[in-house]
This record gives sequence, structure tokens and C-alpha cells, in this order.
Amino acid sequence: MTTLRIETDADLGRRNTLALPARAAQLATIRSLDEARALVADPRRRGLPRFVLGGGSNLVLCGDFAGLVLQAALSGRARTGEDAEAFYVTAGAGENWHDFVQWTLAAGHPGLENLALIPGTVGAAPIQNIGAYGLEVCERFAHLDALDLDAGELRRFDAAACRFGYRDSVFKQEGWHLSGRYLIVAVTFRLPKAWAPLTRYADVAAELDAAGVARPTAVDIAAAVTAIRRRKLPDPAAIPNAGSFFQNPVVAAEQAARLQAAYPALPTYAQADGRVKLAAGWLIEQAGWKGRNRGPVGMFEKQALILVNRGGARGADVRALADAVRADVQARFGVALAPEPIYFPAT
Ligand code: NAP
Repeated sequence: MTTLRIETDADLGRRNTLALPARAAQLATIRSLDEARALVADPRRRGLPRFVLGGGSNLVLCGDFAGLVLQAALSGRARTGEDAEAFYVTAGAGENWHDFVQWTLAAGHPGLENLALIPGTVGAAPIQNIGAYGLEVCERFAHLDALDLDAGELRRFDAAACRFGYRDSVFKQEGWHLSGRYLIVAVTFRLPKAWAPLTRYADVAAELDAAGVARPTAVDIAAAVTAIRRRKLPDPAAIPNAGSFFQNPVVAAEQAARLQAAYPALPTYAQADGRVKLAAGWLIEQAGWKGRNRGPVGMFEKQALILVNRGGARGADVRALADAVRADVQARFGVALAPEPIYFPAT
């Protein structure tokens, strides 16, 4: 039997990568399913508003929280299955994502290498269907196990039940990520035995080319992606940030054609459904926000899509800058940008 650790008046400032200050009335660090079940069964916690925290890397904390934060710290990773086409690997929700990717590669199971160095935890990965360099986690997903914190029951979600979309899943669609309905405890990935390198993103191809790698292995791709990310993206430990702050907008083909006629340099990517994805970072840069600050926050000088805390920012500062950027992009291009991180508590 484990003893559940519950901290009161907990500091969330060091638990979010934007380093925004906030406190939670209670914070429970959950290291096992037993601990999660014990928490749910405890009558003293009943009725308390809840929030599940992973690595805090996709979060804008807007103030204190008078409820219970569950920090998912469940660990463990193992190969859990195999069939004719694929290996299956399972990791605890609290495992660091990048460490897990490295572990799969060291174990000889490629497939996640394009997602190297994404900050956050394994449990958070399916919630926003993390993606980078031409791969989304849903393409390597088998299922996840989550504890329904209302019913106290474990539920398995396969890919269909997760209703994955572009940086989206049922957890966001139903607002469960804000209401603390489910605690994801473990995620199982399906890594096909037939592996082919995904190098269609120009940055990846150029990085491999520069390294003289003509026939990359998965380890080569992970190294290339890691090098690109280290160069372009600020390390949250040095410059607090939450990764890409806005989703790339996907617009109707006619709107994309009109914009391209007016702005021939605008990068566009045709989608399978006939719509067109625009690069949010380009729109933000053209709107004059690259490297520009507003109070203690700014848009990063090397990557306009990243909002950074220059020191001492609060959630309201982040919101004000994000709103100003959105308004300028809307006025100039007629395109609505949607934030990628979650604002919490919602106001
Ligand atoms: P980039 O290479 O400068 O490209 C700008 C945007 O164009 C990307 O966001 C990407 O969309 C899209 N794009 C580029 N090449 C493409 C292709 N061959 N086919 C389809 N779409 C293409 O982007 P970046 O900002 O340096 O980011 C590189 C990758 O890492 C992207 O996939 C990005 O999403 C990912 N990333 C994610 C985060 C995060 O916090 N979520 C942070 C940093 C980077 P997609 O975003 O749809 O891939």
C-alpha cells in the first residue's frame, strides 16, 4: 500500500514551462493506479474541482486554483506485445516523452523519431495529438488506459474513441482536459515493423543532407530533429515558453488562393480534405510580431510562433499579447489564429 502525498497551497509556478505563477489548494502526485483509486475513493476529495497536470508544457496558468491538481507521475515502459506487423510498447503517463522516444529507439523499435524532443509527458501526448515533421502521434497509437475520476473505473480508449484531429482529441473536444474527468495512466503505441523514413519536411531533409546522411536510420532522424529543435526553439529552462503558441490555421482553398495572390511568399500546404494549411509563424512574422515584446512577454526572435516569458509574466500578460497578435493577423490577413495551449483556470 502506498501513501498518497498531498501538498496544500502548492506552487504551480515551477510546474509549467511558461513559468507563470499560480497556486493550487491541493496537489496530489499520482505514482500508481492504486494511488489514483485511493484518491478517488477518499470522501474528503469528493466534489472538489480537479485538474490533471502533466509536464505543464502546453498550459497558460491564468490564476490560482481552489481545487485539487493531480500530477500524473506514473512511470514504467515496456514492450507489451507483438503481431505480424508491429511491436507494441507501453509507457506510464508520467514518463518524459523524449526519454521514452529515445528508449524505443535504443530498444530497436523505430517509429516515433520525428517526435523527438517534444516537451511534456507520455500521458499528455494523445490529448493534443502531438505532431512534428510530418508525423502525428495518432499514427503510432494503439490505445490508452484512463481512470474515470467520476466513476472510479478504468476505461480503455482505442484510436477511434480518441477521435483524433489536428492537435486535437476527444479529451479536448469534451473539455475533459479542463474538468479533470480522466487521469490517463498509460499509453500503448503501435510501432510497425515495416519502417520507412519520413523526411519530407524541408528542415529534416536539409539537416540530413548537411550531415551527409543519404539513407537515414531512425536514430539519424531523431538526431536531426533534435538538432533542429535545439537550434530553433528556446529551452524552457532558460527562456520559459509553451512551444508553438498558435495552431496553423487551415482555411478554404479559395481563401488560400486569394491570400497567395496578394502574398506570393506565403507558405501553403494542401490538406487531404481540399482545404489549405497556412504557416501561423509566417503570418505572425509578417504582422510584425517576430521578436517583439509586450510587457514581460514577447514572440521569440528565432521563431515567431513561440511566445516567451522574458521574466515575471503572469497569465494575463500572456493573454494580452496573444490577443494582440491574433487581432493583428486577423486585421491583416482575415485569418483567425487559435491558441494551442490550454488556458486554466478558464475565465
Ligand atoms: P516550419 O518547418 O518552419 O514550417 C512551418 C509550418 O509549415 C509547420 O508548422 C508545418 O505544419 C508546415 N509545414 C512545413 N513543411 C511541411 C510539409 N512538407 N508538409 C506539410 N506541412 C508542412 O515549422 P517549425 O515551426 O520549425 O516546426 C517544425 C515542426 O515541428 C512542425 O511540424 C511543427 O508543428 C512542429 N512543432 C510543434 C510545436 C508545438 O509546440 N506543437 C513546437 C515546435 C514545432 P505542421 O505544424 O502541421 O507540421
